[in-house]
Amino acid sequence: MNTATAANKPLFDAKRIREDFPILSEPLDQGMRLSYLDNAATTQKPLHVICASDDYYRHANANVHRAIHALSQRATRAYEGARDRLVDFLGAGSRAEIIYTRGTTDGINLVAQCYARPRLKPGDEILVTELEHHSNIVPWQIAAEATGARLVVVPVEDDGSVTQAAFESRLSDRTVIACIAHISNALGTVLPVAEMIAAAHARGVPVLVDGAQAVAHMSVDVRALDADFYVMSAHKLFGPTGIGALYGKRELLEDMPVYQGGGDMIETVSFEGTTWNELPYRFEAGTPNIAGAAAFGAALEYLDGIDLAAVAAHEHRLLEKATAAMAGIDGLRIIGTAPGKAATISFVMDGVHAHDIGTLLDESGVAIRTGHHCAMPLMTRFGVPATARASFAMYNNDEDVDALIKGLESVARIFG
Ligand code: PLP
Repeated sequence: MNTATAANKPLFDAKRIREDFPILSEPLDQGMRLSYLDNAATTQKPLHVICASDDYYRHANANVHRAIHALSQRATRAYEGARDRLVDFLGAGSRAEIIYTRGTTDGINLVAQCYARPRLKPGDEILVTELEHHSNIVPWQIAAEATGARLVVVPVEDDGSVTQAAFESRLSDRTVIACIAHISNALGTVLPVAEMIAAAHARGVPVLVDGAQAVAHMSVDVRALDADFYVMSAHKLFGPTGIGALYGKRELLEDMPVYQGGGDMIETVSFEGTTWNELPYRFEAGTPNIAGAAAFGAALEYLDGIDLAAVAAHEHRLLEKATAAMAGIDGLRIIGTAPGKAATISFVMDGVHAHDIGTLLDESGVAIRTGHHCAMPLMTRFGVPATARASFAMYNNDEDVDALIKGLESVARIFG
């Protein structure tokens, strides 16, 4: 267990961190070493998180909020304790502003249905960028279709960046909400979200930030950003699947109709009329993912002992090393070279399908992702059906980069 406090972070020790993740030292078939470079899809889990889930079922399993017995109190403490950690982790103003969701996708759908849809009228606009994940496109298309609104798309530059000027020029008097990624999952581009939020606010437009890719790589402070909504998934942050969080400014959440009906989200129920619970419970209908919350809290506790600025510097060094080595591989082209990008490398190779690159690398224990990365409009923008993507996390090291480069050199030889 990591006991360091946020104010007293130990030096970043990549070797020790790697040892905290049991799956990374488990050999693959034929004793092969795993180089896990698919972190943008999901991250591995430290023992602390795995044990928190196990501990919850062994020692605390009960439903939350509705009983006064000892186990229910333990379960409630784990569930609400993780919410307290989220308040600190994201810099929210209060517990009322942190709503548990199933993940980033669920959080965006909640905002699309409960914030945007009641406000949208025919001809209104929803601003998104061309590099968004499908999760930050499709929920808005559904809301637009139901209301006669339309999506306005901020274009991506050739290097994968989204400029402030392009963003500002697409804001209009009809814009109801702007929805932007903090970091692109497909290219690693870091968007200037603070500046974009300021420009949107100057026109009275609220902003939802998709933080799925950001939270594991940088410190996020939603109030310093002045984000109106910020969404994330625990599984991209060394936590469990099936749970995430939506941060929303209290005044916006207070003003939103409820999402799903059921237990826990009500104050009183009668056939004459039902009244709603207070925030955040009003948006958490039904028995929640309690074990997930306990493990989510453990992931945040684990991260509390790690300096995210040092993580970013470590990942950046790996990114630079891999990028420099890839420049020497015949026929390989990196897509997405925006300045200051995060440690994700999307690339294509002449005459080789991305899936073949992935399959060949897998044979040497290197796990990358291939395909459209749930960003089909972005693939269209770059004129490719798919890319291969290597994405780094804090536990990756030079050996992982070397294995990637060795594998790619061998792909180039086979297809060259
Ligand atoms: N947004 C971004 C930028 C992502 O990278 C992802 C997942 O890859 C999502 C949204 C969707 O996250 P989830 O599937 O956890 O809901």
